[in-house]
Amino acid sequence: MGFMDKVRNILPERFRKKKDPSEGLKENRIKEKDNIKTSFSVYCNANHDTKDGKLCPKCTALLTTIMLKISRCKYGITKPLCDHCDEKCFGDANNKTFMEIMDGSRTGMLLRHPVMTVRHKITGMGVEYAKQKQSDAAEQKEEGRMKAKAAKARKRKARRNPK
Ligand SMILES: [Zn+2]
Repeated sequence: MGFMDKVRNILPERFRKKKDPSEGLKENRIKEKDNIKTSFSVYCNANHDTKDGKLCPKCTALLTTIMLKISRCKYGITKPLCDHCDEKCFGDANNKTFMEIMDGSRTGMLLRHPVMTVRHKITGMGVEYAKQKQSDAAEQKEEGRMKAKAAKARKRKARRNPK
């Protein structure tokens, strides 16, 4: 049994059984805020000479901005995870630091908060899955549009050149 399987087995039932991974997206916001806060503590404590989950002034400021942005996220309850979002609403510099912190805290998070980390990972997979479904749907729509267009053109041509 692999490490990820072991971690998955300690998760609550509903996380294991979920058929459509995009289902759980609704309750993301609270969990994601927790995950980001914890990631910041892990990263800041490891890199910025802070301890006991406390944040340095810079991380505190960035975290405050991010929490505010999440509360105002235009996606509402269907909000994707910020580290999977294409919107980049934190602003360029903030976004870069945010990704550095999220990437940089990954190992520490897995060691110290495995359940939370795996949950975030699974939700992230749900987000990617939902995105994929969305782009597939868009592609199908486009394909349908092109087919309809071609059919129309054929009709027009047939009308112009009756046999
Ligand atoms: Zn810091």
